[in-house]
Amino acid sequence: MSALDIAVDYDAIADNVRTLSARAGDAEVMAVVKADAYGHGLVEAGRAAREGGATWLGVAQPHEALALRAGGDTGRIFTWLYGTEVPARALIAADVDLSVNSTEVLGEIISVARDLTVAPRLHICVDTGLGREGVTLHDLPGLITVAQEAQREGLIQIVGMWSHLAWADRPGHSTIDLQAENFRAAVLMAEEREIQLEVRHLANSACTLTRPDLHFDLVRPGIAVYGLPPVPDPDGENFGLRPAMSVRSRVILVKDVPEGQGVSYGHEYITPHRTTLGLVSAGYADGVFRAGGNQAEVAIRGRRYRIAGRVCMDQFVVDLGSGTEVSEGDAVTLIGPDGPGARDWATAVDTIDYEIVCRFGGLRDKERA
Ligand SMILES: *Cc1c(COP(=O)(O)O)cnc(C)c1O
Repeated sequence: MSALDIAVDYDAIADNVRTLSARAGDAEVMAVVKADAYGHGLVEAGRAAREGGATWLGVAQPHEALALRAGGDTGRIFTWLYGTEVPARALIAADVDLSVNSTEVLGEIISVARDLTVAPRLHICVDTGLGREGVTLHDLPGLITVAQEAQREGLIQIVGMWSHLAWADRPGHSTIDLQAENFRAAVLMAEEREIQLEVRHLANSACTLTRPDLHFDLVRPGIAVYGLPPVPDPDGENFGLRPAMSVRSRVILVKDVPEGQGVSYGHEYITPHRTTLGLVSAGYADGVFRAGGNQAEVAIRGRRYRIAGRVCMDQFVVDLGSGTEVSEGDAVTLIGPDGPGARDWATAVDTIDYEIVCRFGGLRDKERA
């Protein structure tokens, strides 16, 4: 048995997509399953998202789109992260919708399309202010000219335009409206040049949950699909979403120690009184963040315990207090409905829950291999 038992509740993913679909109203849902579905398993999570009503799946990297097809997915798939080295031939053969980041990438796709009988479906990515992927508003007219020409020749079809927000997780931030305004201008620019857009898309999870006016035709939630909304629910109901990943380990040793006992390397925890320590058989080599020492909590038999002292390579200790009922073999919940959430770990180790699930999810893969 491995040190960490990492499980994914795929019904939760399907239910979360149903919940997000209801919130999206008339807009369709593209479930973002990049990075092995944020560590939840690309093909399995993709299947669950389809079950929940996702009409699109979105991935950053081309190989992920091809892996979804190889896994049997037959719906609309969108991929966006590549340069001119894009494996356009394979992606077009797999009927994947492609993003266009620049006139150079567009040129590459057009040159591949010349040898083909099908015209690939393309979505123009506009940098409306994130300062990351996409064509700037300044360069957009030039790209549209090239696209229009190729479309007239029947080589490509521009079906979408999209962008991504910088501050969606800060509802009310001034850049959100500014980016939306830029996005509308970009859409208008394309439409004025005879480009008929099937889908315009801008909203990530935070925007899907907080800005219904910016859903356009399609929303692209990622983290919320896995039950981890990036903004607090004003109603305190987690937006009706349920975390899908749980991470567990075991207590392998329980022992009594006196007051003043230093615990683990460097004795960064000293027992404040006579107590009982529990040893858990998972450490940083297994993916337990070392920064969680004296910070992060776990749950055993439904009770929370802070990690006592440093997290070691393959073990850590908790102070169970006196009179504990915890015994060897008990399950230790690092993340789960009966314990802390990914967000709690993120706070404890100073990161975001996205990184927590990606990290544990990466280990899940290794286990299966
Ligand atoms: C990751 C990503 C998303 C999903 O973002 P969340 O914050 O996880 O909802 C949507 N669109 C793009 C372009 C992304 O890179």
